[in-house]
Amino acid sequence: MKIVIDPGAGFCPGVEYTIHLAEELLQKHIDLYSLGSLIHNPSEISRLQQLGMKSLEHSSLQDLKSPATILIRAHGEPPATFDRLREQNLAVIDGTCQIVRKSQNKVKSYSQRDYQVIFVGKKNHPEAIAIAGYCQKPMIIVEQPEDLEKIDPLQKTVVLAQTTISPKLFNSILKAMEEKGLDFVTENTICKYIKKRDQDINQLAGESEVVIVVGGKKSANTAVLYQQCRAVNSQTYWIEEPANLQKEWFDKVKQVGITGGTSTPRWMLEKVKRGIENLDGQWGDM
Ligand code: SF4
Repeated sequence: MKIVIDPGAGFCPGVEYTIHLAEELLQKHIDLYSLGSLIHNPSEISRLQQLGMKSLEHSSLQDLKSPATILIRAHGEPPATFDRLREQNLAVIDGTCQIVRKSQNKVKSYSQRDYQVIFVGKKNHPEAIAIAGYCQKPMIIVEQPEDLEKIDPLQKTVVLAQTTISPKLFNSILKAMEEKGLDFVTENTICKYIKKRDQDINQLAGESEVVIVVGGKKSANTAVLYQQCRAVNSQTYWIEEPANLQKEWFDKVKQVGITGGTSTPRWMLEKVKRGIENLDGQWGDM
């Protein structure tokens, strides 16, 4: 059986930067807390926890006493969070991805110019929650075409995207807005890394008999990746770790493709590959 790991898979630059920051701080024995889950990948979180990192939910922030250092994840945080951390006298290391930061600045700038801001993405995603804080008036988050009813057609309007949504979803929302006769400016803020991955993934899914998508079940980016692979190849399975592999998926299969979300480390993809090889050996023993 040929097993191909997607050459473009692994951490995106934004996640890599945040993980690197965490590792550097932990090496200096700093009392480090990530605010919310640093990335949506339980295995990588557990590795960082073993190095000493602790995770703190927003609801427990008031219990944290200075001195302690808070690492802001790549998705960013709204300005209110930074104000609160300052008030509590906590040290802050800002790991907000530069591409996310650019989107936040755009939202701020358009809203200051009195635009109605439409954000295509997931309502409860940390990136959406953070970016809404930079909007000077309520931001409209569009997850599905029905959400377009909330748009006021008489206001100047700009449409932006969550950095990790699929270009296909973004285009379908733009099309639906055009069909409703809405007048708007488009800012395609989908991360360039995600756009490039979009093309590579279709190729991998098309060339493989079975596709294994590896990533945390809470990872929005992995969910998009899974749906995209499944649209091309119905034999696509989403797992978090090698223990989730099932032997019957690979019966008589000659080529398997492995890919992962932007928060899935390469070491995990290698581990999944070894897991499939071990299952393959078991077939031979039967
Ligand atoms: S997917 Fe792109 S925007 Fe999001 S954290 Fe990674 S590099 Fe940054």
